[in-house]
Amino acid sequence: MSAERRHRCITCGRLFPSGQGIVIRIGNDVLEFHSSRCFAKFAKSLLERIPYDEIKGYVRRIREEYEELLEQKRKIRAKKII
Ligand SMILES: [Zn+2]
Repeated sequence: MSAERRHRCITCGRLFPSGQGIVIRIGNDVLEFHSSRCFAKFAKSLLERIPYDEIKGYVRRIREEYEELLEQKRKIRAKKII
């Protein structure tokens, strides 16, 4: 049996096993969240504190990527109906 690493949610403190939750490695940090709800809380705080001018390009680009994906799904759905 492999040595299972346990993570601790940085938002609520709950312990959870590898393979569950959300674990993000960014730079030298490891951000561990036991649930998408805890990640959402953290992400909301992060987005509110980062100066908007520094991230607006990324915000717009990612929003455009999702809009493009939604448009692709819409087209696929429309083809199935025909
Ligand atoms: Zn949590």
